[in-house]
Amino acid sequence: MSAPVKIESVRVSVLGAARSGIAVARLLQSQGAAVFVSDRKPREEAAEQVQALEKLGVPFEFGAHSDRVFDADFIVISPGVPSNTNLVQHALKVGLNIYSEIEVASWFCRAPIVAITGSNGKTTTTSLTGRMFEKAGRKTVVVGNIGIPISDYVLDAGEDSVVVAEVSSFQLDHISTFKPKTAVLLNITPDHLDRYENYQAYMNAKFKVFMNQSADDFSIYNHDDGPVRLHCDGLSSTRLPFSVKDKLPQGAFAEDGKVYLVEGAKRVLLIDSTEIRIRGVHNLYNSIASALAARSLGVPLEVIADTLCEFPGVEHRLEPVRELDEVKYVNDSKATNVDAVWYALGSFDSPIVLIAGGKDKGNDYSPLFELVKKKVRAMILIGQAAAKMQKEFSDKTKCIMATSMEDAVLKARREAMRGDVVLLSPACASFDMFQDYEHRGREFKRLVGEL
Ligand code: ADP
Repeated sequence: MSAPVKIESVRVSVLGAARSGIAVARLLQSQGAAVFVSDRKPREEAAEQVQALEKLGVPFEFGAHSDRVFDADFIVISPGVPSNTNLVQHALKVGLNIYSEIEVASWFCRAPIVAITGSNGKTTTTSLTGRMFEKAGRKTVVVGNIGIPISDYVLDAGEDSVVVAEVSSFQLDHISTFKPKTAVLLNITPDHLDRYENYQAYMNAKFKVFMNQSADDFSIYNHDDGPVRLHCDGLSSTRLPFSVKDKLPQGAFAEDGKVYLVEGAKRVLLIDSTEIRIRGVHNLYNSIASALAARSLGVPLEVIADTLCEFPGVEHRLEPVRELDEVKYVNDSKATNVDAVWYALGSFDSPIVLIAGGKDKGNDYSPLFELVKKKVRAMILIGQAAAKMQKEFSDKTKCIMATSMEDAVLKARREAMRGDVVLLSPACASFDMFQDYEHRGREFKRLVGEL
């Protein structure tokens, strides 16, 4: 791909100086652009970023976005900056193009890109897919939302490499020519409704991952997700749907505990699903999607199957922590929405003591009611959402309020009986009590370790 403008002679304003903002500033500067970085965060709270930008020699401002932002040929917006702010609206009004970091990085990328998006499962699927390419001996870079900006790697990735990128809806909001060789859409469930006008707008952002693909590109999507199927069945790229419910004439599917890929007119047995190391139906979806992605770019079937047998999963996603007094403790701190918790509850046969709560994002908890009634021995509730959750769940299971994670872990231990699972799967964001979900998960693990 190439840039829509001559980079050596452009002026670019980068909004947001987090990891991806600084990486794209560095990339554009290295290609000769005159870059300016602007971030609203007070300078005192941005020591690390200031240092990085000073080292780069890029002019910047902290504390507020000034009008200097508009003195540019285009703007690069970080995923953390909402599109509905006055600043962005004004930029659009004066005719400035606004691109996301992944769009800009793709202009310089010679390697095929595998872009993975969805409401849940992105990190797991991205890591797993990356592992398949690595195991096949391919030069692989795993980047994106996963924490490593694609801009840091594009120049090094040659045609013989593969870039596996986790892509959020916020990155997709501002693409223009971004054209992944293989695009994966795992699922869409309500999330981030604080950032989008409505659910349809959020779905449309996800669908953009396919918008520039042509017939020789691969579109991998969840056939069992109604709105996803409705959109993707009409794509003109090479379509590879996946299902764990229906036998499909193309793509891949699971049937009677076995996973099949459809290659030409044949269906090929890939693996017995009991051999896949990561557990739960949601991970079966992630596994099949990864298999299709790796296969689309030529990874041998045996390598794919071997990787599925070995891949242990990612930290904070249904991560086994410890077994104590015949009770298993599981950390699913990354379950920051209702759908992730739904799948987590479905992943265990034993009774569950569920630690949940945190910062509520306007959640509708009703999809969990039946499962909680059936499987949850007790709910230990923390954070701002605790009162709301108690009101909604107290007629479904025993609800116990906790004042801290420590209190929650102690109370969970008291409630759990032999054979139970104590599961941290909060359905909420963590920012009311923790720096982020990783901090929350680490605290949980530390406290469980000390029991
Ligand atoms: P993301 O990067 O999209 O947030 P992760 O792989 O980090 O996805 O998983 C986030 C949460 O969602 C975890 O709690 C995990 O167990 C759950 N999860 C993973 N894959 C899926 C899926 N395909 N469908 C629903 N929930 C999932």
